[in-house]
Amino acid sequence: MIVVMKLNAPQDQVKAVKEKLFQEGFKPHLIQGVEKQVIGAVGKQDISLLSGLETMEGVEKIIQVSTPYQLVSREAKEEDSIVEVDGVKIGGRELAVMAGPCAVEDFKQMSSIARFLKAQGISILRGGAYKPRTSPYSFQGLGIEGLKILYQASRETGLKIVSEVVSTSDMEVVSSYVDMLQIGARNMQNYSLLKEAGKTKKPVLLKRGMSSSIEEWLMSAEYILSEGNPNVVLCERGIKTFEKYTRSTLDISAISLAKQLSHLPVLADPSHSGGSWKLVPWLSKAAVSAGADGLLVEVHPVPSEAWCDGPQSLNFSRFEEMLRDLKPVAETAGRTLPGSESLTQSLKEGRQ
Ligand code: PEP
Ligand code: MN
Repeated sequence: MIVVMKLNAPQDQVKAVKEKLFQEGFKPHLIQGVEKQVIGAVGKQDISLLSGLETMEGVEKIIQVSTPYQLVSREAKEEDSIVEVDGVKIGGRELAVMAGPCAVEDFKQMSSIARFLKAQGISILRGGAYKPRTSPYSFQGLGIEGLKILYQASRETGLKIVSEVVSTSDMEVVSSYVDMLQIGARNMQNYSLLKEAGKTKKPVLLKRGMSSSIEEWLMSAEYILSEGNPNVVLCERGIKTFEKYTRSTLDISAISLAKQLSHLPVLADPSHSGGSWKLVPWLSKAAVSAGADGLLVEVHPVPSEAWCDGPQSLNFSRFEEMLRDLKPVAETAGRTLPGSESLTQSLKEGRQ
């Protein structure tokens, strides 16, 4: 259930409605739009309450959301949400590109990648310190050491960091080093992890489970929002199909659908879906055309020597080429590439 407040309803009226909802056993969440404030009320549904609520000062109308996910739904908030990762906006006109290796290997590797990405106008660095691997015998990540390396690379360049958290017991330490938490495909339905991520208030990159429906994915996002953390970015990373020539099948329609069904930003991961660096530029273009708000791309200085996911990683020159090829597609989709708006702005300022 969503309570839409009147335009410019004062804070004391919003507070009174929230208190009333709380007393009636609902969990109220303020969803701040540009124009309107709406209060999402999750919990038991009690229609008899509606008449009382509707007459309260500042209330415009009550909407019964038709989907099982409430706070995440487009019905709860019409306009696109912008999620900020320590000042970097995800979900606006500018595409958000997060790039970096599958796994953090050492400082030299991370530092060279971070410096290269910064020169490309990229603001968010990825790298796994805790790796969920199919085989227990594969490299599992450097753990805290990896987080420290990421942090150092970020201090050196100013890039923001996104890194995966795989367990509730690591939530505190991972949160203390990263700017954005990643919840991976394998943990999309790890409800304790989702709830903990909801409590941190850190932005969360929520990947779609490889065998999960769009509704299940949005319900997982709802877990995070219902704990009071509205800063969720969805990421379509490919699903399991019968096709063997790709690692997963990038579900292009899921990108457009998630954008229609939810107000949350949606990214695409062309690396884990295709499983081959050769597909990455094509899948990226397709994702941006389908409405993606950005990309999560694996980049490694020497992919053949990567400890993890080398075959799907772009080297520096291929990444640069991909960004160049993406530009006209982004423009057609009404988007800009990272850094280009600030670049245009500084060029303008330089001319004055
Ligand atoms: C990753 O991004 O490194 C990763 C493990 O992705 P996924 O959870 O989508 O497999
Ligand atoms: Mn990977």
